[in-house]
Amino acid sequence: MIQLSKVLKEYTTKTGKVVAVDNVSLSIQQGEIYGIIGYSGAGKSSLIRLLNGLERPTDGQIQVNGREVSKLSSKEMRGFRQKVSMIFQHFNLLWSRTVEENIAFPLEIAGVPKEQRSERVKELVALVGLEGREKAYPSQLSGGQKQRVGIARALANRPEVLLCDEATSALDPETTDQILDLLVTINKQLGLTIVLITHEMHVIQKICHRVAVMENGLVVEEGQVIDVFKNP
Ligand code: ADP
Ligand code: ADP
Repeated sequence: MIQLSKVLKEYTTKTGKVVAVDNVSLSIQQGEIYGIIGYSGAGKSSLIRLLNGLERPTDGQIQVNGREVSKLSSKEMRGFRQKVSMIFQHFNLLWSRTVEENIAFPLEIAGVPKEQRSERVKELVALVGLEGREKAYPSQLSGGQKQRVGIARALANRPEVLLCDEATSALDPETTDQILDLLVTINKQLGLTIVLITHEMHVIQKICHRVAVMENGLVVEEGQVIDVFKNP
């Protein structure tokens, strides 16, 4: 489903080159919840931005469902971003729009007609458990509810992959568990492939099937969560 082959990402800065992702090869299967863990600066954000085409690799190949990401034209990239969607630590909601308007936004951009949009928004609101909050603004929601809006919006155009960028790092432990439970439900119900980056071991141990451990741009360990984190 997702295949990274010898991916290198370098940034050129005033003081020279920074290698953020160093010769990383990984494969992620359809329908799995795959975690990438590491300390700050390990290269996790760079890796996830490479997966959705926000960054281009300096070298190597990235394939998502048979598409070579670095070869997409800007028109193809727009379609691709609907298929590989993302949720964020700080939710990135539109603050002047209601819950239902936030969720409808990617559908509007995709040109879905109004009636179909309302139908789809209804389904999504039910899926993430936000019934009754449709007319609320983000500032009136709890952190967990904001992330539910983020998830519904990310699912609006029926993506093939959901990328989660520290999606629970701004939430308290109880809310974190509720959002992780929702991700598991979505993974099971929709068979959706989920790739998440986190610095929290708990997140990996609670929901991931497999994990890659990153350090200084390198994947230093990779495999089933129970094998990678087993106690000696
Ligand atoms: P993480 O998400 O694990 O914290 P990042 O991918 O953000 O890691 O960063 C990996 C390395 O790349 C760090 O040394 C960081 O300073 C550097 N880096 C990230 N983005 C940029 C950028 N746009 N320009 C220059 N250096 C960057
Ligand atoms: P981030 O932490 O990544 O900046 P936020 O969720 O805080 O993300 O903000 C997302 C967007 O909403 C940003 O463009 C920000 O400027 C805007 N924003 C954040 N908080 C408010 C607010 N209280 N009122 C209006 N706009 C806001």
